[in-house]
Amino acid sequence: MGKADSNDLFDGAWARLCEAAGRIDLHPEVLAQLHYPKETLAVSLPVRMDDGRLRSFKAWRCRYNDALGPTKGGIRFSAGSSLREVMALSLWMTLKCALVDLPFGGGKGAVCVDTHELSTTELERLARAYVQGFNGFLGPRRDIAAPDMYTNARVMAWMADEHARGVGRPEPAFITGKPVALGGTRGREGATGMGAWLVLDALSRQLGLVPGETRVAVAGFGNAGQHIARLLHDNGFRIVALSDSGAMVHNDEGLNPHEVAEVKRDKGSLKAWRRGGRGLRRGDPDDLVGVDCELLVPAAGAGQIHAGNAGSVKAGCILELANGPVLSGAEAQLARRKVTVVPDILANAGGVVVSYFEWLQNLGHDYWPEEKVQQRLESVMRDAARRVSDTALELDCDLRQAAHVVALRRLSAAMLARGLG
Ligand code: NAD
Repeated sequence: MGKADSNDLFDGAWARLCEAAGRIDLHPEVLAQLHYPKETLAVSLPVRMDDGRLRSFKAWRCRYNDALGPTKGGIRFSAGSSLREVMALSLWMTLKCALVDLPFGGGKGAVCVDTHELSTTELERLARAYVQGFNGFLGPRRDIAAPDMYTNARVMAWMADEHARGVGRPEPAFITGKPVALGGTRGREGATGMGAWLVLDALSRQLGLVPGETRVAVAGFGNAGQHIARLLHDNGFRIVALSDSGAMVHNDEGLNPHEVAEVKRDKGSLKAWRRGGRGLRRGDPDDLVGVDCELLVPAAGAGQIHAGNAGSVKAGCILELANGPVLSGAEAQLARRKVTVVPDILANAGGVVVSYFEWLQNLGHDYWPEEKVQQRLESVMRDAARRVSDTALELDCDLRQAAHVVALRRLSAAMLARGLG
């Protein structure tokens, strides 16, 4: 996202962590160790294009901290990616896994590419090149990848297949978010949206959101955004605005996200949405942040809400489905106006929780029915939301600081027990 300076993203993430560390007198050696990733690899991925040209793509993988277990985190294919962004995202993964009590550290990967420019065969070659480029760095008990922006189950399937060819046997625990046919888990695709819904439901009294009276705007109508929009709609919330990278559609009378998703799937863009009668208004995706609503759900890239547009936010609550959508420069403005932010490391943790379930199923060769996945997800998410809410009361701080504190307490206990190694 253009508004997010990637240097700011890591520095902002670090500043928030330091503030939380100060609240609990975090051991200075733990803090010092957390300032840098454990290891980062930057590579160039040569890929043959359909017209015969060879293009090289910059790519990264970062294992930020593995005190709690093998590192875990998605791979995004995005033109705006950078090393600093990957570092910030893998630091957040470290905190997220600690917050929801998973035996995982945090990692992340990215390729600097606009996937709209690639054919399907070029995309497949790039996915396979990523696995070759990070051979030995990624691994089922070392660093486990998953989908993120502009990657999906199909990309994970190519990556799983490339790894299987390399090691000479299928090893499904290498990557999560795979199709069910290749050892993926039931319930993974909707897990991030479902996790966010469970957190919102658990905090509903504190947030003061009543379904029939709550208008919602969702910025980013991809995997995570579509699932949360459908869940909110199905539970009585009124979806008034949706956006993707090409357009925003707004209708104060309400939009049906199931219908909009069909059009998005068939036509590839929200620009094609025509229904909605006289209430329908179109606009630039960036206009969504200022739409009149009670709940704003940023669900695309980082930095959607920044110092320059925070003043236009009308919602009283922001549910961070994306990673890093509210830049630190916007936070003070929002706090002054009493806007409550449900932080990313809590709100979008459902994806990694169900990825953990997938990994467990792969290692145990034992596949779960969807009800078991949903039950276990619900228990983890409600428990995490309760711990964050209790900690906010205990320390008289906002939910982001409380989420950081819960994560740092668990992480530091593990780091100190290991002798910080
Ligand atoms: P996706 O690629 O499926 O969807 C991204 C969507 O954002 C697309 O529809 C794209 O058109 C839209 N978009 C891009 N730029 C935009 C802009 N300026 N304004 C409005 N929309 C824009 O990605 P996703 O998997 O849904 O991930 C979205 C966010 O959620 C990312 O920040 C990701 O890190 C985070 N997240 C995803 C998961 C997951 O399981 N998918 C888990 C945790 C966090």
